[in-house]
Amino acid sequence: QKWKQMVADDGRQSSSVLPTPSRSLSLSPSFSLCWEEISVMDERNTPMRTYQVCNVMEANQNNWLRTRHISREGAQRVYIEIKFTLRDCNSLPGVPGTCKETFNMYYYESNNANLWFIKESQYVKIDTIAADESFTQVDVGDRVMKLNTEVRDISNLSKKGFYLAFQDLGACIALVSVRVFYKKCPLTVLNLAQFPDTITGGDTALVEVHGMCVNSSEEFEAPKMYCSADGGWLVPIGRCVCKPGFEENKDVCQPCRPGTYKASATDAYCTKCPPHSSSSQEQAVECACEKGFYRAETDPRSMSCTRPPSAPENPISTVNETCVTLEWSPPRDTGGRGDITYSLHCRKCSGDGRKCMPCGGSVHFVPRQFGLSSATVLVTDLQPDSNYSFTVESQNGVSDLSPTPRGTVVINVTTSQTVSVVLKERRSKDSVTLAWQGPERPNGAIVEYEVIYYEKREQNYTVLKTRSNMMTVDGLKPGTTYVFRVRARTDGGYGSYGGEIELETSHEGKRMNNKYFLSICVYIAKQDPDEEKMQFQHGRVKLPGSRTYIHPHTYEDPNQAVRDFAKEIDASNIRIERVIGAGEFGEVCSGRLRVQGKREIYVAIKSLKAGYSDKQRRDFLSEASIMGQFDHPNIIRLEGVVTRCKPVMIITEFMENGSLDTFLKKHDGQFTVIQLVGMLRGIASGMKYLSDMSYVHRDLAARNILVNSNLVCKVSDFGLSRVLEDDPEAAYTTRGGKIPIRWTAPEAIAYRKFTSASDVWSYGIVMWEVISYGERPYWEMSNQDVIKAIDEGYRLPAPMDCPVVLHQLMLDCWEKGRSDRPKFGQIVTILDKLIRNPASLRELANSSACREDPSTPEFSVNTVDEWLEAIKMGQYKESFSSAGYVSLDSVLYVSVSELAKMGVNLAGHQKKILSSVQSLQTQGTHVQV
Ligand code: AMP
Repeated sequence: QKWKQMVADDGRQSSSVLPTPSRSLSLSPSFSLCWEEISVMDERNTPMRTYQVCNVMEANQNNWLRTRHISREGAQRVYIEIKFTLRDCNSLPGVPGTCKETFNMYYYESNNANLWFIKESQYVKIDTIAADESFTQVDVGDRVMKLNTEVRDISNLSKKGFYLAFQDLGACIALVSVRVFYKKCPLTVLNLAQFPDTITGGDTALVEVHGMCVNSSEEFEAPKMYCSADGGWLVPIGRCVCKPGFEENKDVCQPCRPGTYKASATDAYCTKCPPHSSSSQEQAVECACEKGFYRAETDPRSMSCTRPPSAPENPISTVNETCVTLEWSPPRDTGGRGDITYSLHCRKCSGDGRKCMPCGGSVHFVPRQFGLSSATVLVTDLQPDSNYSFTVESQNGVSDLSPTPRGTVVINVTTSQTVSVVLKERRSKDSVTLAWQGPERPNGAIVEYEVIYYEKREQNYTVLKTRSNMMTVDGLKPGTTYVFRVRARTDGGYGSYGGEIELETSHEGKRMNNKYFLSICVYIAKQDPDEEKMQFQHGRVKLPGSRTYIHPHTYEDPNQAVRDFAKEIDASNIRIERVIGAGEFGEVCSGRLRVQGKREIYVAIKSLKAGYSDKQRRDFLSEASIMGQFDHPNIIRLEGVVTRCKPVMIITEFMENGSLDTFLKKHDGQFTVIQLVGMLRGIASGMKYLSDMSYVHRDLAARNILVNSNLVCKVSDFGLSRVLEDDPEAAYTTRGGKIPIRWTAPEAIAYRKFTSASDVWSYGIVMWEVISYGERPYWEMSNQDVIKAIDEGYRLPAPMDCPVVLHQLMLDCWEKGRSDRPKFGQIVTILDKLIRNPASLRELANSSACREDPSTPEFSVNTVDEWLEAIKMGQYKESFSSAGYVSLDSVLYVSVSELAKMGVNLAGHQKKILSSVQSLQTQGTHVQV
């Protein structure tokens, strides 16, 4: 606290407090007996003035001493400290009883500073003052004075000032000093707010004071405090914060140093400039971007400066008639930002490409033309047979700020021409042959033609494909009008359809009957015993020395075929236990069958779902009438059928391990080569049996082999409609049939030449599937690419760890000429030899040689997850990420022991992962699988 004196604080100054006699004083009997101004020496021999009165010998004293006007200076409460000496009455010999030992102190408030007279009654009494220490020495001029000090206060003052007065009623007093003061709260700085000197309030009232923010600061919340009556600051509220470009240091805000900045007042301190920016001056509120780098308006100041992206890369276009899909890869340099978008500009160009004009509004972009977030767009409504030039521009949040041209890539596209009119046609009662001419200027080599046709009055259409300029569409209804359209496909996509052609098949002269039909079939069978139509042989026409398979369609009553070849089972002997799969006609369940005289056996039960048509029932049961003709340890065995009650069921032996492809994927890397060869031997043996019976399977694939608990593999899936309807792998071919392309021999795809030799080709694919543990043949290549690659001589490379001899056998199965392929009997013999002489399996097809093969598919991967998926180890994604392998770099040096720690315990899986890691090390992100 600071004290301020209003008046004199020593005797000299108090001399200005004139003893103005009050009215009563003036009435006193003797002026000289009133208050007198007397100089005395203090204990340090310093002269000092006093006002004294000592009329103790006289009764009825009333002597007044009054100050001049004392200005209040805004204070509401004023303190008065008086120092005085007072003589003890007893110490004065002979004084009468009227002698007093007290005096009174008064005040009078007034705005008038020049009053010369104040009535006694106008004064307000402050107190009666008594001495704590009176002295008994007679000598008033005693050097060793004992001073009394008393403090009184007056509050709630409101006028300009006041007068003080002292009333003596007959005491012996020396008034040494009168000090008048008030209290204030001192100037202070708190929370960067300055609070001024503040005079305290009257009584106990707190004075609310608002702080002023210090230099370079601003109010965050209005700062205020309370000044208490005794001069202390209380209850600070609110605060100021340093302005942007300044930081707090003790009670001041100092500027940020060069190289640092403070963007917001609420940030506590200056921070270093973010990458690609700097500040050369003090007080920076942001750092300026380096040349070529920018900051978008919405970018936080703490973000690095960024730049526009480079151009999109690897543009691809796929034309489909008058639409084109444009695709590209994101720019290599994103400019340091994640907000890349693309915009397209379209121009239509003249034939020579010299003159281009903006496309205008007739062309449409899906999802949009500007601000695309994904790197692909579909452009529709182009004009056929026209040249277009598309400019794809990459942009990000700072592209608009940069004066340099945008990163762009140009994609030139020519929309396809239509196939010209059909030139030739030939009609019979159930077929039509069409021939046409391709587009004059195709936008690339023609990969194939697509023929679409439908019955004129029907909605359903059929799509057929061919690589030649001609096609015979058979299986048509006599005397019926069909509509045909043809379009071409190049690597760039589909062209537009040529015009519609309506053609009517000729009328049937004579209704075909089964007999006539059969005789044709026999004739064909004799012509070429290897041919697919072999299936149409009637059971009564047998090749010498072999039991021959009888096609159920050769029966006039297909139910008779079922009766001939399948045993009827009483449904009460079957106990269905659980669903194990879904077939074309309904659920497949496992259960038990009680056979009389034998113990219960486990069986698979295929049932025909409710609501079936007659044809569906026939087709469903045809599988039983085919299977029922076979009896071989490597062919799924038919136990019987339930046809007399619903649901209709086919009961076969139960194969505990389900289908071979799923089984292998589940047990990847877990078998020895001998075990795998054993499985293959079983399949070959089953196929030899089928081919000996002149049965062509047409859909031999690992998914159609079943495995029992002893790893015995058995050929299954004999339904008649299976290749057409049941197999999800089957795709339409040029001749209209549905064929599982990847498994099928080229001649069967091209002209439906299905034979045991084409089954051998499929068997080679199964071999590849088995050795690669269920890998998809030709991986993700499209069916069209597979056809093309095979035609150009490409063959699947040896899977990992594949013995040379096995790959050689596969290659033999994939000979182009079907007669050059081994027969199933030979395959069984070769495999038997290998099993007897396992050393022959030791030499592995050189995996590095495999890698050098430019046709070995590669996948470009960017993340650990993508990599694991690509090498078919996706099941370990979680293990890798929880072990901290989050980037491809981090997996480069993974060890066997680390793999084991992660739970990759199977040796085959460890091997697969480590060998792929090796290829990652040498070839970057291109992974060979
Ligand atoms: P399918 O209609 O013959 O293709 O059978 C559908 C699925 O049921 C197959 O992929 C197998 O998983 C299962 N399945 C069919 N027959 C059997 C069987 N005899 N033993 C075990 N599972 C079978």
